[in-house]
Amino acid sequence: MGMTNTANNSFFESVQRNFDKAAQFTRFDQGILAQIKACNSILRVKFPVKIGDSIEVIEAYRVQHSHHKLPCKGGIRFSMEVDQEEVMALAALMTYKCAIVNVPFGGGKGGIKIDSRKYSAFELEKITRRYTSELCKKNFIGPGIDVPAPDYGTGAREMSWIVDTYSSLNPNNIDAQACVTGKPVSQGGVRGRTEATGLGVFFGVREACSFQDDMEKLGLTTGIAGKRVIVQGLGNVGYHAAKYFQEAGAKLVGLIEYNGAIYDENGLDVDQVQAHRQTTGGILNYPGAINFSNPAEGLEQACDILIPAALESVIHKDNADRIQAKIVGEAANGPLTSEADVILNNKGILVIPDIYLNAGGVTVSYFEWLKNLSHVRYGRLEKRFEENMYNELIDIIESTTGKRVSDLERKTILRGPDEIDLVHSGLEDTMIGSYREIRDIYKNREGVEDLRTAAFICAIDKIGVAYEELGIFP
Ligand code: NAD
Repeated sequence: MGMTNTANNSFFESVQRNFDKAAQFTRFDQGILAQIKACNSILRVKFPVKIGDSIEVIEAYRVQHSHHKLPCKGGIRFSMEVDQEEVMALAALMTYKCAIVNVPFGGGKGGIKIDSRKYSAFELEKITRRYTSELCKKNFIGPGIDVPAPDYGTGAREMSWIVDTYSSLNPNNIDAQACVTGKPVSQGGVRGRTEATGLGVFFGVREACSFQDDMEKLGLTTGIAGKRVIVQGLGNVGYHAAKYFQEAGAKLVGLIEYNGAIYDENGLDVDQVQAHRQTTGGILNYPGAINFSNPAEGLEQACDILIPAALESVIHKDNADRIQAKIVGEAANGPLTSEADVILNNKGILVIPDIYLNAGGVTVSYFEWLKNLSHVRYGRLEKRFEENMYNELIDIIESTTGKRVSDLERKTILRGPDEIDLVHSGLEDTMIGSYREIRDIYKNREGVEDLRTAAFICAIDKIGVAYEELGIFP
């Protein structure tokens, strides 16, 4: 993407600008607002790792943006664009995100400046474990201190290296598994975390599309079925989002990867495109689709919903005017520059902001952390009890009405919840509830003109009260 330090500088500034714009609509003292905005702690490390026969010096960060609630929480990214400003911007977004979805954490973020495609799995493991021991040394990781998670370029595999390294350095900590989330289920992960961010994106957009007056303003009908969707980035977030849109009856007309984009107005099948990508090394030349060798052109094609799910600043002042979507759902963090945000708002496009829309990941990470601290799987205690209760209830209904429930009906009603059911329904409830909170501010607070400002207000209101009631340590 060729991002420069200046671009990341403006990413952090644009987060600060969005904050300031929203802060005017809140009642807090300037000092409280300044404290909410500030990055509380920043760690930068450089460490040597043996790669082949040579030694490479790796640059890495962990930023704890806010300590108003602990632990801090936020992903770890592997990317060549990583620098201090980028990690600061992403950590700040995490603080606001957690507040919006009522997850009791402060924001944090980590980054290692590497191109993960250039290393073997063993080399990545060495880098990840060394990074984790640096975090341990500086007290920048721990179940009550700071809890990382996956982000761009990382997944369950990296999280399992982190939990193993942390646990071996903290053998007496019975809660050690809660030092990181997004782990494989065998290492203390929770079912449903892998797809959580993408599923949250789907729930959020579905909720936005359920309001008739909002859809009429965009010239759309309510519901997801039949809507034309373009997704940028077929990684963890983008792939799962695309899959849920497709399952809900949307038409995936465009898919974009770093080395090309494809478009088919009749709709693409995301799993078949993934299979094609596996065998050919890219998504281009998929049967029946139009190719764009410049992936950015994919963003500008006709659609109703555009989901950028790759990296920041992909929609900017030079291409914003050509965006044809009516709804932009920010699955990635910071995909619009501030200039692009203004242009899209002026065009009447509904932008669903990152600090709300991609919060499904941190929401389910919270469930995973709770699972680790309670040392028990969700559903283990109540599943059978609930099944027995429903069974009795159906018996009573049958004997009082004199009618029999079919075997299939009985089986459906009798199912007590598994972990995955509870996680998905907790996520769905969170995404619906938070959208309504933000929309309510957007519709009812005088002068608020977009959902992003409303989302920031929602966050500032909650964090401001927390700081006021915390008092200031003398
Ligand atoms: P990922 O590494 O799993 O996937 C990213 C995908 O984007 C990869 O397939 C990559 O090839 C592709 N890509 C890179 N550059 C591109 C370009 N120019 N055009 C099109 N595609 C490109 O990462 P992820 O975890 O899915 O994260 C994606 C975004 O979502 C990031 O902004 C991240 O901060 C955000 N996010 C992730 C999570 C999470 O739980 N993983 C949570 C919240 C937000």
